[in-house]
This record gives sequence, structure tokens and C-alpha cells, in this order.
Amino acid sequence: MHFFLHLTTRCDLNCKYCAQEALEDLKFGKRRWELDYPPPEVSYEVRDLKGFLEKDDDPWVIFYGGEPLLRTDLIKEIMDEIRANYIIQTNGMRLEELGDYVRRFHTIILSIDGKKETTDYFRGRGVYDKVIKSARWAREMGFKGELIARMTVMEPVDVKEEVLHLLNLGLFDSVHWQLNALFWEDLERRNFKEWLKDYNKGVRELINLWVENMKKGKVWRIYPFLGVMDSLLRDEPSLLRCGAGWAQYAILTDGNISPCVAMAGMKEYYVGNIWESDPKNLKKVLVGEPCTSCDIYPLCGGRCLFANKTKLWGEEGFKLVCTSIRNLISSLQEKLPEVRSLIQEGKIKLSHLNYHKFNSCEIIP
Ligand code: SF4
Ligand code: SF4
Repeated sequence: MHFFLHLTTRCDLNCKYCAQEALEDLKFGKRRWELDYPPPEVSYEVRDLKGFLEKDDDPWVIFYGGEPLLRTDLIKEIMDEIRANYIIQTNGMRLEELGDYVRRFHTIILSIDGKKETTDYFRGRGVYDKVIKSARWAREMGFKGELIARMTVMEPVDVKEEVLHLLNLGLFDSVHWQLNALFWEDLERRNFKEWLKDYNKGVRELINLWVENMKKGKVWRIYPFLGVMDSLLRDEPSLLRCGAGWAQYAILTDGNISPCVAMAGMKEYYVGNIWESDPKNLKKVLVGEPCTSCDIYPLCGGRCLFANKTKLWGEEGFKLVCTSIRNLISSLQEKLPEVRSLIQEGKIKLSHLNYHKFNSCEIIP
């Protein structure tokens, strides 16, 4: 089982689509959800966490925050005490504080939004340079795992340009992005609807380039494309692709277990806690309508459990985001015969599309 470990709610950055959006939502007093937030710092003992995780045959831990590297002390203690596979999702400002421990990670996910001007605009001045420096440092230290560039994408960003920039750096193994959508009550104050047309066009163009590149024998590791194309080739349906609520859960700072970190405080969805629950036998929390009767549910999987339960943009806003998923899936479906031929001709292998599932890349942006 995969577990996000919510180490702290604090962060050392003040990104536009995260902390600043939260402030905007508060200002307009729109949050409709009654939340009972867990404390900002971990309040359980590491030995209690160990007792829980050791009941799992193959535990995967994804350090998460806030910014998890604000608790490097705790990360090191957990890695020393508990036998598990480790992943970290971080803003990259303090990666060097991991020292030798960096080599023990299976995957490192660094938040970066593309080019320097884009990243620094959304995440703060100097952030791009620091993240690149951290990525290089990890490699110099001998980190051999997967290094993923994780973007948050929103207007006015040109998704194609930003993804190509990150791929061309030759520093990251893979690129993933998530749309800033349905997370805050911000549809009315944004230009999202108008921008979505450009976004969809960019995704289609990027898929064309992705397949063109396959003809040269190279499969760019772009997570949303890898995940959906792999399912198309294998004709395999998927539940919610991030895994939240069925293949992945979040251990909150107070030891309670929720289906996703984004659902911290939404107690009605909690599935247990580290003292009483068995990781092999956690209750499933699945998406409901409109996903379950959607024609592309077997391929989409439902996009986001949090969004499905909260519908912060209303029914219409929810459907608006679905148009981006339809565009992604239908563009990849159009390319399926070509990709199949490339595999049959031996230009690429099906295994080139392999990825480690539930590593915190949601697949459907
Ligand atoms: S496209 Fe939309 S409605 Fe359909 S399964 Fe995905 S998120 Fe749900
Ligand atoms: S896609 Fe939604 S449910 Fe899945 S991990 Fe992200 S916020 Fe959670």
C-alpha cells in the first residue's frame, strides 16, 4: 500500500495557486466545508507509525507537507526506524539537508512549473534556480531513482512550451502536471474557462510531438500520456488513477488516516488510524456521480476524489474540467493505432511506458 505521510502543514514558500489562493478563499469567506484540521505538526510517536506500517507486506511512504523537508529530522528518524520504500514530494528548497539519505529514495518529485519566468512567477523569485540546483545536487550525490518534475498548470501558461522546456533540460527523468482546478472556490475570479481552449490545443500538440518522438525510438516520460496510453494498449480499465481511497491513503499529523491529504479535516471520510487499523484492510472510499455513470470512467477513473466529493465549482464547473479529460483521452485514443504499430515494428517497447503506480503522480491532470 502507498501512504502519504503528512509531516507538517507549514511551508517555506508562498505559491500563488496554494497559500495565496487559500487566503483569497478565506477573504471571500466561501469555504463551505466544515473542517476539523489535524495539528500542524506530527503528534504521534514514530514507534506507533512503525507498528502500523510493519503490518503491510510492501509499504510505500511518500513524505508530504506543507513542505516535508521542514521536518528533515523526522524524515531521517523514520527512514532509520522503519523498513519501507521511500518517495518525497518537495518544493526542493532544502533538498540538500537530506545529505546521504537522498540516495535511499526510490523517487524524488520536485515542484517546478516549467521555465524560469513561469516558475518564479507562480512560486517566488529564485525558486527555479534553486530547484535546478537541488536536482543536480541529488544526481551528484548518487541518487539513482526517478527524478520527476511536477508542474502545477493554470492560466496563462502554455502547457506545451513548459513541458518541452523541462524535458529538454535533460535533468529530469519524467514530467507530470496537475491542473489548478476544482481545488478552491475560485472559478469566478479566474480566466480558466477561456484559457482551457488553449490548454486543450497545447495538450493535443504535445501528444503529436510525443508520438513523433517515438518514431525515433524515444518515449518521453510524460505521466498523463504514459498512464492513459498504457491502459489503452493493455485494454485495462482503472479506478481513480492517483489511487486515493483504494490504493493510496494519507496518514495525517494526528495519526488518523484519510483517503487523500487534500481531505485532511474531512472526518466523515476518514478510514481509521495508525493504532487500530490494518493497512491491508482499509475501507475503500470511491468516487460517486457523475463519474460512475460517465462513458469514459473506465479510462479516466474519476480524476480526483476530493473534487468529486466537494464540487467546489458546482456541477457545471466540474463538467468544464471534464472537457480537458475528454480532450486528453480522445487525442491519445486517436494515436493508439500508430503507437501499436511502433511497438509491433520494434521502434519502441511496451515496457517503455511502464511507471511506478501511485507514486503521487495523479495521471489525469
Ligand atoms: S471525465 Fe469527468 S465525469 Fe467522467 S469520469 Fe472523469 S472526472 Fe468523472
Ligand atoms: S487527484 Fe485528488 S484525490 Fe487524488 S491525490 Fe490529488 S487531490 Fe487527492
